[in-house]
Amino acid sequence: MRKIAVLGATGSIGTQTLDIIEKHPEMFRAEALSAATSAEKLFGLARKFRPRFCALQRETAVPEDLSGIEWFFGADANEKMLLAARPDDALCAVVGIAGLNSVLTALDVCERVLLANKEALVTGGRLVMDKSARLHRELLPVDSEHSAIFQCLKARENNTVKKLILTCSGGAFRTWDKAAIYGAKASDALKHPTWKMGGKITADCASLMNKGLEIIEASYLFGMPEDRIDVVIHPESVIHSMIEFTDGAYLAQLACPDMRGPISYALGHPQRLEYGGKELDFAQIGRLSFFEPDTDTFPCLEYAREAIRRGGAYPVILNGANEEAVSAFLKNMIPFGKIAETVRHALDTCPDAPVNSAEEVLDADRTAREAARRYLEDK
Ligand code: MG
Repeated sequence: MRKIAVLGATGSIGTQTLDIIEKHPEMFRAEALSAATSAEKLFGLARKFRPRFCALQRETAVPEDLSGIEWFFGADANEKMLLAARPDDALCAVVGIAGLNSVLTALDVCERVLLANKEALVTGGRLVMDKSARLHRELLPVDSEHSAIFQCLKARENNTVKKLILTCSGGAFRTWDKAAIYGAKASDALKHPTWKMGGKITADCASLMNKGLEIIEASYLFGMPEDRIDVVIHPESVIHSMIEFTDGAYLAQLACPDMRGPISYALGHPQRLEYGGKELDFAQIGRLSFFEPDTDTFPCLEYAREAIRRGGAYPVILNGANEEAVSAFLKNMIPFGKIAETVRHALDTCPDAPVNSAEEVLDADRTAREAARRYLEDK
């Protein structure tokens, strides 16, 4: 029986994780649950799963029937909860750089970290990878593309992998024209064609920034330079990613687009679990299609490549400006096109800075957010 902490339990990944835990009560126990601000939702989950520990960023009165649970509050509630709970595994599904410190704490106290929080790797990639190596912690990707690559790499044996190929659905605006995309609203961007996910990531999918962040994520996770990570648009989202060997052979992982697939793979690893997902009906799918990404219409993909090539604080700057702009976009304060412009502005104006500790990473993040806010206020 493994004791699991689910950070970001009320979000899309968190609730799907709990769905799998519920299906396998002989294997997993939800030991600790956290949310940022969705207190009522977390109370509901706490009643159902009876964890021993819970955390909320916002100080909230706890209902009488949940007072037997140990509660933690504040900006560092996740870290305090992990230190008290010391679970076997932590599934980190906090959105954004806000999850970096909890991923680092999870590496201190847990045997395995199941990582859905890609921004933690984008911003603190070196810190996270160094710590997981130093403490011999297993870091299991929950992002579907990275889970696919992780699965394919098991068959590499001692061979050199020439390239990683990340597939990309193309997002909500794949078939829109450039002028219409610029003025698009949050309600347009949130119609993801194949995956059902939270607001931030769905907006990132529409701008292709999500794929840019995933290039950086893959680069850290698999120790691969950016120029050996390709992206191909694959609207059906059936192939979740591929690896290429030096002899021109490819391995791919295929499954119905269902996040419970990568979540259950990470939870059960190395054992595969049944989670109730659909089988692929190949005859019904008929054909799979592939396209080159249009980086003229979706420049964020190239901005992410630029950020990791420049190195230093630039991935943090890219991510901070993007988080700030996406947050304004989701509140309908700016049109979609302003997201990419804000990121461009931050990359052009923010100075490089050391990022050798979590504090330094968070400093660079603050600088980027301030630059983004000033840019959006001036417009
Ligand atoms: Mg992904």
